Amino acid sequence: MTDRPVRVRFAPSPTGYFHVGGTRTALYNWVLARQQGGAFILRIEDTDEERNREEWVEGIYDAMRWVGLDWDELYRQSERKALYEAAAQQLEASGRAYWCECTRDDVDARAKERGGPPGYDGFCRDRGLRRGEGRALRFRTPDEGTTVVHDLIRGDVEFDNATIDDPVIVRSTGVPIFVLANVVDDADMRISHVIRSEEHLPTTPKHILLWEALGHGEPPLYAHPPVVVNEKRQKLSKRRDPVALELYRDEGYLPDVMLNYLALIGWSPPDHRERFTVEEMVREFSLDAVGKSPGFFDVKKLRAFNADSIRALPVDEFVAAVEPFAARLSWADRFDLERFRTVAPLVQERIEVLTEAAPMVDFLFLDEPEIDETSWAKTMNTDAISVLDAAATAWESIAWVPETIGEATLGIAEQLGVSRKKAQAPVRVAITGRTVGPPLWESLEILGRDVALARLRAARAKLG
Ligand code: GLU
Repeated sequence: MTDRPVRVRFAPSPTGYFHVGGTRTALYNWVLARQQGGAFILRIEDTDEERNREEWVEGIYDAMRWVGLDWDELYRQSERKALYEAAAQQLEASGRAYWCECTRDDVDARAKERGGPPGYDGFCRDRGLRRGEGRALRFRTPDEGTTVVHDLIRGDVEFDNATIDDPVIVRSTGVPIFVLANVVDDADMRISHVIRSEEHLPTTPKHILLWEALGHGEPPLYAHPPVVVNEKRQKLSKRRDPVALELYRDEGYLPDVMLNYLALIGWSPPDHRERFTVEEMVREFSLDAVGKSPGFFDVKKLRAFNADSIRALPVDEFVAAVEPFAARLSWADRFDLERFRTVAPLVQERIEVLTEAAPMVDFLFLDEPEIDETSWAKTMNTDAISVLDAAATAWESIAWVPETIGEATLGIAEQLGVSRKKAQAPVRVAITGRTVGPPLWESLEILGRDVALARLRAARAKLG
């Protein structure tokens, strides 16, 4: 470990939706800060004006708030350009950076001619060019020796300096490149641990070399958690995979479940249990225990976690969690929270994501059930006519509580000599519109006898 005060940062570039992999990176940083009494910094890396959008920045704030990863300090690189400019000048003055006028085509053409690997060949290194139109600033990396990344997860990873091209650090447009701004800020913000995805490991030697060239001394400690992959073992991609945290929020995953599940992609507590709270993670987390191999983002497993957690919620919390989802339904004006509360425990047992909750019991709120055609076709045969008639008669005079409703309805099966399933299915479809749903007798009680009878008759009439 380090004796510097723990100061970590999460440094997203606002170029798209907030990625689940990014959420995990943010979480590991946040947990370490909270555990060590350190600071968790949110740094928006928005120097690339062409790729950034303000709405993505808002998306980052929203997503972080949703999962409860609160930050102690907030910076935006777009407001700190003077610092990067000063660092670039310092490197130029000390001979560690030089201006280069090669275009990408020049660089590629020479590589082709050499027959060697692609990359910059140092063409302008000693040409003594000045800053000017079309010229980019490059960092002069050493030709000899090695740069070692002391990685808390991977151990020492060694890079041969000769294989490290001189990277552009200021574009010809004057925009500082990611690696420069990143290093300048890590130094300025006195970052103790850089925890970021494995994808960045190949460029980390450049970060270290720049850090040293800028005279900052001992670099921060590094930790590169493994990439997150899909079921085909491909790195999760924005185009191919559902990676946006917002997607999971909008489908009705619980934020604590997201954090628990994402933490597990790469880390588990010493006793290897799979379910834990954020507080437990703060107590038990350690970077040494983060694995090296790619972590599989298994949506099925996440869903199962979510279902378990929904089931375990106190009813009031469950109802409160469903409310915003109900507000987005096409029939939101018909939804009634108090009525929903009466069936909530039954719904809670049967769903995996919160978006499923209100639609499962829509028939309690709508004037008429929304008839699912497949369910209707499957159940409303000739037997159904006698079942519906018998139910209408039986329900007239019984006590309207689940037990007697159930007895009376199943009694019809005996009376007509059909299976219990055959007796129940048409009734369920007449009442709820579907063959599957919450327990029928309880639902009927809540719906009330009059409405229930009206629905039986309506279905009966439709059957002719
Ligand atoms: N802006 C970089 C990214 O979004 C951050 C890399 C880092 O954490 O150093 O990937």
